[in-house]
Amino acid sequence: MINFGYKISTPRSIDMDSADSRLYCQLVEAVPSYRYCIGCGGCTATCSAGQFTDFNIRKAHFLFSRRQYDKLASDTFTDTDLNKCMLCGKCSLVCPRGVNTRGLILQMRKLLLK
Ligand code: SF4
Ligand code: SF4
Repeated sequence: MINFGYKISTPRSIDMDSADSRLYCQLVEAVPSYRYCIGCGGCTATCSAGQFTDFNIRKAHFLFSRRQYDKLASDTFTDTDLNKCMLCGKCSLVCPRGVNTRGLILQMRKLLLK
């Protein structure tokens, strides 16, 4: 194979028509304000856990909205990213859209544990 000095990234597109939306719908039902998220990243910027770990709350709920639950859950749930959140609530205070981000984390944990 010829080396051009770069490589083409693996496609990250997902087929939303065939994706399992049940968990996502349950999350939106439990935390209706999730609909208003514009992905600004304010929650990530202020996150207490993000200061000390690689936890990224926007990435977490973004993966959930992409139905990529497998990237958030594991057999041993304790080592997943969601458990790095301390539920301090700072992210909820700064969200310009009033998303209950703390509630989002709690619900994602519950839904993924089922
Ligand atoms: S701060 Fe609010 S609107 Fe911005 S990414 Fe986080 S949840 Fe979404
Ligand atoms: S509640 Fe969790 S996600 Fe939100 S700022 Fe605190 S540690 Fe970060």
